Amino acid sequence: MSTRIQRRVLADGREILFFQDADSPVQTIAEDPRPAEQRPVGGQLRFDLLTGEWVAVATHRQSRTHLPAAAECPLCPSTPERPTEVPAEDYEVVVFENRFPSLGPKQGSVPADPGPAFAEAAAESALTAPAHGRCEVVVFSSEHNGSFADLDTRRARTVIDAWANRTAELSELPGIEQVFVFENRGEEIGVTMNHPHGQIYAYPYVTPHTMVTSARAVAHRRETGRPLMGDILSFERTSGERMVLESAHFSAFVPYAARWPIEVHIVPHRQVLGIDELDEAERDDLARIYPEVLRRIDGLYPSPTPYIAAWHQAPVNCADRSAEWMHLEITSPRRAEDKLKFLAGSEAAMGAFVGDVSAEETAARLRAVSTVHEDGAR
Ligand SMILES: [Zn+2]
Repeated sequence: MSTRIQRRVLADGREILFFQDADSPVQTIAEDPRPAEQRPVGGQLRFDLLTGEWVAVATHRQSRTHLPAAAECPLCPSTPERPTEVPAEDYEVVVFENRFPSLGPKQGSVPADPGPAFAEAAAESALTAPAHGRCEVVVFSSEHNGSFADLDTRRARTVIDAWANRTAELSELPGIEQVFVFENRGEEIGVTMNHPHGQIYAYPYVTPHTMVTSARAVAHRRETGRPLMGDILSFERTSGERMVLESAHFSAFVPYAARWPIEVHIVPHRQVLGIDELDEAERDDLARIYPEVLRRIDGLYPSPTPYIAAWHQAPVNCADRSAEWMHLEITSPRRAEDKLKFLAGSEAAMGAFVGDVSAEETAARLRAVSTVHEDGAR
C-alpha cells in the first residue's frame, strides 16, 4: 500500500490517524494544544426482547456540534487562533475517534442473546450492557466545501486505503463483531456537519440487517454451492437493464427489488469479505468508479442529492466465509427535485417497503447523466 500513516493521540486520549499519499510531502502534525480532559464514559446497550436486537442509548450525544459554520467547523485544519479536532495546518485524509460516540470508548463483548438470562431472572441487568465498541470519523479532505464525488482519483484511493486499514484494525479489537463504514451526506438525512466526512461504527454485535443477509447467504451457499452475491452479479450483468456502470473490477447497478427512489449497489467482481481484502488494482478501479456513480446521482437534479453510502462487509466471526461477499449500497430518499420519500407505516412499522419508481427507470436515468463537468460546476 502506498498510503503513509502517522498516528497521534488527542488531548482527551482519543486516537487520530493521518493518511497520506506516498508522493506528497510528509505533513507536520502538532501536539493537540487543547487542555487535557476526561472522555465521557459512554452510553448503554439495551436488549429488545421483542426483536432480539440491541439498541444503543447515547444520551450524551445530544450536546454534539450541529451544523457549524466554516469558521467554527471542528473538522477543518487547526489555526494558531482556533484549535480543531485535527491538530495540523493541513491534511489529506484523517481518521479519529468520535468525540460523541454511540459505541465506546470501552471495548468488550456483549451476549448474543440475553433472552435466557432474562428468563432466569427478570431483571434489567440481564438486558443491559455497556455500549462497547468504537466510533470513528473519517475526514475526506481538509476543504470545508465539497463531497466525496469531488475527490480526485488519488484522494479517493487514499480514503479507500484508510477504510481498509480501519476495517482490518477494528476487526481485531476485543469484542468487535462487525465493522460498518458509511457516509451520510445532506442535512435532509440528519448530517450535523457539512465538511466532507464519513463514519465507521465497530459494533460488539452483528447488526439486525446483516443477521438477515448473512443467514440468506449461508443458506444459498449450502443449497447451491455458490455464493449468493456471485449469482446476483451474474443475473444483473446478463440482464444489463439495471446496470449503471461496469469497470474492470466492479459493477454498479440498481438492484432488481430497489427500495429507495435512488438506489445503487457497487459490487466487486471478485469475492472479497471486506474493503481490506481488495487488491491494488481493485482499489484503483474503485477510486474511479465510486466517485463517478456519486456524480451521476448528483447529476439527476440541479442541487446535490442527500444519500447514505453503506459498506456491507462480512461479520468479523461469520458462520461461513465462503458465503460472504462485500458490497456498497448507496440509497437516497429523494424522489423528485423537491420531494423526499418518508418512511411511513408499512416501511417504518413493518419494514415492508413500497417502491415509487422502477429500478429499470432509475438505472436508465443514471446512465443518461452526463458527468463531463468541471469542479464546482454542478
Ligand atoms: Zn470544515
